[in-house]
Amino acid sequence: MRIFTATLMTETNTFSTMPTGLKAFESIGVLHGRDGELPEGPLTDAMLLWGALAQRDSHEIVHSLATFAPPAGRTVRSVYEAFRDEILDDFAGGEPFDLVLLNLHGAMAAEGYDDCEGDLIRRLRDLSKNPVKIGAVLDLHCHLTDEMISQADLLITYKEYPHTDPLDRAQELYDLLLAAAEGKITPTMAAADLPIVNFWATGAQPMRGFVDRMTALESRDGVLSVSFAHGFPWGDVSPGAARTLVVTDDDPELASRMARDLTHELWGMRRETAFQGTTIEEALDAVGCGEGLIVIADTADNTGGGAPGDSTFVLARAIERGVRDLALGPLWDPTAAQICHDAGLGAIIDLRVGGKTGPTSGDPLDLRVTVRGLADNLRQTVPHGAGQTISMGPSAWIEVDGVHIVICSVRMQTYAPDLFTNIGLPLEAMRFAVVKSTNHFRAGFDRIAVRTTFLLGPGAIAGDFENFSYLKRTNLFWPKVGQIGPEFT
Ligand SMILES: [Zn+2]
Repeated sequence: MRIFTATLMTETNTFSTMPTGLKAFESIGVLHGRDGELPEGPLTDAMLLWGALAQRDSHEIVHSLATFAPPAGRTVRSVYEAFRDEILDDFAGGEPFDLVLLNLHGAMAAEGYDDCEGDLIRRLRDLSKNPVKIGAVLDLHCHLTDEMISQADLLITYKEYPHTDPLDRAQELYDLLLAAAEGKITPTMAAADLPIVNFWATGAQPMRGFVDRMTALESRDGVLSVSFAHGFPWGDVSPGAARTLVVTDDDPELASRMARDLTHELWGMRRETAFQGTTIEEALDAVGCGEGLIVIADTADNTGGGAPGDSTFVLARAIERGVRDLALGPLWDPTAAQICHDAGLGAIIDLRVGGKTGPTSGDPLDLRVTVRGLADNLRQTVPHGAGQTISMGPSAWIEVDGVHIVICSVRMQTYAPDLFTNIGLPLEAMRFAVVKSTNHFRAGFDRIAVRTTFLLGPGAIAGDFENFSYLKRTNLFWPKVGQIGPEFT
């Protein structure tokens, strides 16, 4: 067999005012197929796995583009089209292929394209002269479109959020698509819409049980794969929805019935699984509750969902209320970080902090700050890795009357407590840690927090879904609407 692979990923927050351009992809990496051996890392791990499996099974493999950009606004049209056309050219130039294995996000939108993945898969299908089998692994925060489903032979989404299972899903895609190319199975996909907008973490019940049931269903006769595509609430694209997807071995009726049953199960759990959050005031009121560190997750400014990472809503209220022993970070403000470095350690300066990207970041704050720590290249540990760290660039720790802020030059969410401690900020002396993250911080912070509070907003990715008003997607969704059609009551 001849196998073709590519990785093209970003998660698009269509409400973001920050376009995703070439520099954003280059910040993680742009690897061209002709560049030879793939280096190890999160960008290439799926393709490296497929390469190792192909070598084991004596199949020939051709790697095309591998690139990824941090979540932000729509990808610049020319950037998306250049990446897409590079993959198409590599494919056409290397034909014939028996298998196409794609590592995609599923919620990538560009200027003029609401469904980049559907567009790419359709063009690959149109180009192929052979009866090639095309499959993709998708992030579960994807918009699983009819275009993708009709043009691909097999789609599999991650099951876990936080995402701990992309490589397990990549392995399944390889195994199943290879079996399909060899004529051993006939993957048959059916999806069903779930009219809910939510953020479903899978670590806690009842979602843990739901994910385990999906896995168990895959061992039933005739069932090949079961996915729940959560959708991406901050992608206002058409179509955009949460969907279940069941792949059977040539049994469309079974696939449809199971997909529908799973949506009803999720609908029945909607109140228990709804994203629960508090207001900033409620979170800061917790000052009197016992000893230990209280973690406040500023979910609405999580760069992992496309938010800027420079919002000042929590910071402003903490200072106004006179809260002390509060650490907040990272706050993305390269200019402020540079000014702190110029001023030097121990300097007391007037500094404009945060709030620079747009209205969803709040107002910039003009503060008299003390520069308490400086780092040329602050690093924090990434979750679910083997101790790998990631650069936050030139950074500064500043203090305003007991409120401590870690300002960074690289736009990134909070992953681990060493974001604070690596610049010298003693977290053990703090009452509050405000982290800009929704879920990925938990691996590092849960073991040191006595309590964790999730904020609903305000911010670029606020979680008050009942107040959402989409222009392209349907607004018939729970919790905005209580009853949707005769099926979901
Ligand atoms: Zn995701």
